[in-house]
Amino acid sequence: MNPIYAALGTTIFTTMSGLATELGAINLGQGFPETDGFPEVRADAARAVMADSNQYAPMKGTAALRDAVAGFYGRTQGLSLDPAREVLITSGATEALAAALFALISPGDEVIVFEPMYDAYAPLIERAGGVVVRIRLSPPDWRFTEGQLTAAFSPRTKAVLLTTPNNPTTRLISREHWALLARFCAQHQAYVISDEVWEQVVFDGVRHVGVLNVPELTGLGVKIGSAGKIFALTGWKVGFVCASEALVTQIAKAHQFLTFATPPMLQTAVAFGLNLPDARFSDAVAELQRSRDLLMAGLEAEGFCTLPAEGTYFLNIDLPESGIALSATDFALRAVREVGVATIPLEAFCASGGLPLPVVRLCFAKSDATLQRGIEALKRAR
Ligand code: GLN
Repeated sequence: MNPIYAALGTTIFTTMSGLATELGAINLGQGFPETDGFPEVRADAARAVMADSNQYAPMKGTAALRDAVAGFYGRTQGLSLDPAREVLITSGATEALAAALFALISPGDEVIVFEPMYDAYAPLIERAGGVVVRIRLSPPDWRFTEGQLTAAFSPRTKAVLLTTPNNPTTRLISREHWALLARFCAQHQAYVISDEVWEQVVFDGVRHVGVLNVPELTGLGVKIGSAGKIFALTGWKVGFVCASEALVTQIAKAHQFLTFATPPMLQTAVAFGLNLPDARFSDAVAELQRSRDLLMAGLEAEGFCTLPAEGTYFLNIDLPESGIALSATDFALRAVREVGVATIPLEAFCASGGLPLPVVRLCFAKSDATLQRGIEALKRAR
């Protein structure tokens, strides 16, 4: 048995959703919308499954979807991508991450990450033979500093793996922080594998700046996107990799032996969806922002201290600032067992043995009624 997996438990998302089901709790843990997104995109998938071929799609993705991805990022982020050479379709962003790491990392290479981080990263880096080098970020600003980068980069640094907008901190990397990081990456010729699955879920008119928007990182950046997040259809598992032709060619070699191809009818529907008018996407974000505000106001009114929520489906509660003297895990267990609300403790996004991080994450991609019930219940967990 491989020791990396032998030492691992089950992901917190599965554990917490399991507990929520078992205990009949309100599930504000795992990040998924309570109701399915974009009905017109679902209808197109249903049509395609009967009208079109259900055999293997092209290994790098259908031409229609690669064109649509390039067009979408051209319109929304000012990128100029060659769909035939600089876009690869994968079976979800997690597969894209695995393919990028397997293709770019060799045994002994160091990969810098920012903790707290999504729980899939470290096992994937280690399974690719890489060494995880952690930079620890702290609330409420969750920003890295030049001093931390200086300490983390070494002659063995091969890549930086980051998320913007960040899950779980919700913060976006600003242009200034991109510029700072780019200086180090350019000097070390380190790749930046940038998980941007939340790029469309950004609030308060702030603009997402992704790795391919940073000119100093030309040829080093790998941008990963997700249809599941863009259309609030997290079960679809359709991801995109955008990078230079040289990098896409390498990453496609890993992808061909991971999943080979992605279901064609979902690719057809995602292509249709990406071509919808801009207003359709801004309406979806406005709705989520309203849910964020509802949960934030409700929790604050009950004496909880929430952290700034710039993007993603998530709102974080700072426990000490809320007057709660429990670890995040203990609070999350109390909340699910005693008052029936599932949350995610941010400790789950950190290496075991790390510093305590008494913050819990709540998913607000839910109906108003569910959020109200969650607030009512959580006030009894204080
Ligand atoms: N991305 C989701 C979250 O952060 C979880 C996805 C999963 O369960 N693997 O909650």
